[in-house]
Amino acid sequence: MTSAETLGVLNRVFGYDSFREGQREIVDHVSAGGDALVLMPTGGGKSLCYQIPALVRDGVGVVISPLIALMQDQVDALRALGVRAGFLNSTQDPDERRLVEAEFLAGELDLLYLAPERLRSESALRLLDRGTVALFAIDEAHCVAQWGHDFRPDYLALSELHERWPDVPRIALTATATKATHAEIAARLGLEDARHFVASFDRPNIQYRIVPKNEPRKQLLELLRTEHSGDAGIVYCLSRKSVEETAEFLVRSGFDAVPYHAGLDAATRSAHQARFLREDGLIVVATIAFGMGIDKPDVRFVAHLDLPKSVEGYYQETGRAGRDGLPSTAWLAYGLQDVVQQRKLIDASEGDTAHRRKLGAHLDAMLALCETVECRRVQLLAYFGQSASPCGNCDTCLAPPESWDGTVAAQKLLSTVVRLRRERGQKFGTGQIVDILLGKRTTKVTQHRHDELSVFGVGADLRDGEWRGVVRQLLAQGLLAVEGDYGTLVTTEASDEVLYQGRKVMLRREPERTIRAAKPKRA
Ligand code: ADP
Ligand code: ZN
Repeated sequence: MTSAETLGVLNRVFGYDSFREGQREIVDHVSAGGDALVLMPTGGGKSLCYQIPALVRDGVGVVISPLIALMQDQVDALRALGVRAGFLNSTQDPDERRLVEAEFLAGELDLLYLAPERLRSESALRLLDRGTVALFAIDEAHCVAQWGHDFRPDYLALSELHERWPDVPRIALTATATKATHAEIAARLGLEDARHFVASFDRPNIQYRIVPKNEPRKQLLELLRTEHSGDAGIVYCLSRKSVEETAEFLVRSGFDAVPYHAGLDAATRSAHQARFLREDGLIVVATIAFGMGIDKPDVRFVAHLDLPKSVEGYYQETGRAGRDGLPSTAWLAYGLQDVVQQRKLIDASEGDTAHRRKLGAHLDAMLALCETVECRRVQLLAYFGQSASPCGNCDTCLAPPESWDGTVAAQKLLSTVVRLRRERGQKFGTGQIVDILLGKRTTKVTQHRHDELSVFGVGADLRDGEWRGVVRQLLAQGLLAVEGDYGTLVTTEASDEVLYQGRKVMLRREPERTIRAAKPKRA
């Protein structure tokens, strides 16, 4: 196997002139029979890293992928290039399956896509025994990591591939891996001794912006009208209901938008997805059910109307913008209610304490990214274990937020929460606490005689919105917590350090002006 041969396949079969950064080394290494673990961002060009070795090696390249819905498309695309590809998954009827199996055994396939659950069946394993396997490619390899954000139990069985076929090279690929996930993938798949290829996760053409959420739909509209009219983009929402409502809202406002979530029937979903891929300037409003494996180069913006559950998820979702390398926007509106809601979801989640602690840690990292006063890109890359210098292109670089000493404000707020509990045996949500601090005699305040508390009105130096910002940031820093369905505020152990031990609290002041990117230039 020579580099010239792999380059020849790249030119002849795929019609590309040259390898992208990292691809050649990986292709040559795997073609020569080496194991590899590949960390490369979305759009980096992972597929060729196993497709070309599968073509130049004897036998069939077996690709394990959880993206069952996309297998047909992937196989069709390969067949259009003259590559002999097939797939096996649960959506097929027995006849279709038998046909593919026969092709595999007759050596008439270059690539076989396999859903991970297939490998639990002994008959599928025996099938592989009877043919020649050129390599195993494990796509979306982060699914094997329990620490990650997208764990799939079926992936655990993949550790057995090596035991059963010790001579077949394996290449595991993922677009999302923090240091911890990276290590877990290597350990679970037995790839510690494999060569690790880690591409830069920097996506310099994406401008990251995280704004305080006031009226999210109006803010989104402003973004679309001023910077992205006529552009294709994805708007992520947490719930199906808000997906529907936001899509309707955008259509009423004159935009081409369609909804996408798991509650829609399969035909509607695939029609909307197909339109997004084919048409110019369509907006898909979606839950995170949308996007994995979707390869549309000219997505100009990804907007989040709700807080993602983890930095890994956020990075993967925003990574769908600007695969063509042209300027694109990753925009997230984030507010107090997001923290309250996400904590509630974690409390209500199934699974043991360790699982909840993991979800909590993922959320904390996401909150830290939202509240940082430093470059978003630096923070984001640091999360993936990579260093960078301030990018000069994200919102915090363009308009550095001031930080201010919020110790006294935090003490006022925390002692209000403590007093209500100690003196009255009560717990309240943000609204009431802020009204007490501001000294507002609302009906609810007088009803509860909260105007008689000694803390009543001690916070008149800040405005309502500023107090909500303080609450949000204290929650993000773990100096305050929310409880129950009504989002009542309670103190934490760390709160005591602020109240009684002189711990200093630094807070972020939201910049007054909004950041606006220059209109991206089209190629
Ligand atoms: P990933 O799986 O890493 O998200 P893909 O393998 O889908 O990325 O590749 C992303 C896009 O880049 C695809 O449209 C692919 O055809 C294109 N691509 C990959 N490698 C090259 C290359 N060497 N030259 C030109 N285009 C490439
Ligand atoms: Zn920056």
